[in-house]
Amino acid sequence: MELSNSGFNSIAKWNAETGFVYVRTADEVSDLLAEKWQNKTFRVVSRIGAPYLVERTPEEGEVLTGNDRYEGYSKDLIHEILKETLHLNYEIEIVPGNLYGSYHKETKSWDGLVGHLLERKADLAICDLTITYERRAFVDFTTPFMTLGISILYTKAPPPEPELFSFLSPFSVDVWIYMAGAYLMVSLLLHILSRLAPNDWENPHPCDKSPEELENIWHIKNSCWLTMGSIMTQGSDILPKGYSTRWVCGMWWFFALIMCSSYTANLAAFLTNAAMDDSIKSAEDLAMQTKIKYGTVEGGSTFSFFKRSNVSTFQRMWTAMESARPSVFVKNNDEGVERVLNSKRSYAFLMESTAIEYRLQRKCQLMQVGGLLDSKGYGIAMPFHSSYRTAVDNAVLKLAESGKLVELKNRWWKAPPEEACETQEAAEEGTSAAELGVDNVGGVFVVLGIGCGMAAGIGALEFLWHVRDVAIEQKMTQSEAFWAELTFALSFWETEKPVQHSRPSSTASGDMASRASSVLRSAADLFHIDVFK
Ligand code: ASP
Repeated sequence: MELSNSGFNSIAKWNAETGFVYVRTADEVSDLLAEKWQNKTFRVVSRIGAPYLVERTPEEGEVLTGNDRYEGYSKDLIHEILKETLHLNYEIEIVPGNLYGSYHKETKSWDGLVGHLLERKADLAICDLTITYERRAFVDFTTPFMTLGISILYTKAPPPEPELFSFLSPFSVDVWIYMAGAYLMVSLLLHILSRLAPNDWENPHPCDKSPEELENIWHIKNSCWLTMGSIMTQGSDILPKGYSTRWVCGMWWFFALIMCSSYTANLAAFLTNAAMDDSIKSAEDLAMQTKIKYGTVEGGSTFSFFKRSNVSTFQRMWTAMESARPSVFVKNNDEGVERVLNSKRSYAFLMESTAIEYRLQRKCQLMQVGGLLDSKGYGIAMPFHSSYRTAVDNAVLKLAESGKLVELKNRWWKAPPEEACETQEAAEEGTSAAELGVDNVGGVFVVLGIGCGMAAGIGALEFLWHVRDVAIEQKMTQSEAFWAELTFALSFWETEKPVQHSRPSSTASGDMASRASSVLRSAADLFHIDVFK
């Protein structure tokens, strides 16, 4: 029996065979509680921290009093439990110091919300208060209304500045240098082997069955042209015939195939700036380095988790955190988030996943690193042996099963569309479809421009050299030959050019010049230097 305002009420029945059989349903328990607390007000203690509880900004002319001064997830949850389900009155107060609750061994006392409950200054404590073994030894908790784990909050790497020559990025400088070296070596080898290979010495006039001389087309210029053609995947119209030269050629094609495919595969990633960020990816990575500092909220459950952990990684992290100067601990989550944002990637914050989820929706520079380091829950705390424990616990379960808790979480976690960040999937979709700007591929245009400029320069030199030859052969002045050749070259409708035969020499110097030129030409022929022709 239990004595209440209305007299004795039956709690349970007992007989020798079955022992105690409790006869009260959850509804009866809450009805009795309502009756008992009819004229009383529940003292609910909490702490300020978005999105759980924040001070409401009054609208114009509005004066906020009592519970209306606050809003947030905790306020809505306690309202659903006490007012809507149990029909009780409540009053919210903020804990002095705004602390969660940690145990001080020296004074053998608790601070924050837990301390407040122990001093019986409140009946319930609600906020993002983690159920821990240590706290559970001093206060009672309801079943968790939210589950979470510790994770790492860090800032995203700033998008790399688009580089003009980003098309070079797929290979390192070393690889480009080795490739250029390989290109020269293989071209040279092809040239040497072709001179040794009998099959590459060919009849220059196939109609002449017994030629006087054999010709080898694989001078260094043609060798370089073949190797260039294959590395650029364009091929070449001349091919070697010797066994050794074909073998070199085949090996070079294999090299070109692998290099070109690797280059193409890597280029897409580099041009779309999707290159992987090579910094920390897990708690182990954090523990193994000293450059990036990391910390927690001082005195919170995350703080205690590292302090008491037996896992070697977390122990190492605790030692690093404890010895860090200036201190890496902060007063609350907001201060931690600010520190992460302002530290230019030199500070990571160990925070509970629910709080991270809330921040990620609003601060787009932030990211979560790795998964959860543990698994735990938030519960509503109350002093031990509270008569309303079962009723409050039942109410939490009822709200969880009816989907109300999910609804409340969505209401307070989802950022309004104008403040919300792009989700990961949307961002990824955006990246894959992103257009490449001039900044990304500008370098290719620069190379084309420089290449064309060089071609024009070589063309001009070739033309002047040719003009010089013509002037000597035709016994004209250089400028006459220049203007005549230029006029012909610019007559775009002319597609055939008459062969100029050298005029008979009239002066000794002219004769000398033509003889010198013919000597030069034969030397050029000998060394296969076309420019002299
Ligand atoms: N929710 C934690 C607590 O109850 C706070 C934290 O460590 O992040 O202490």
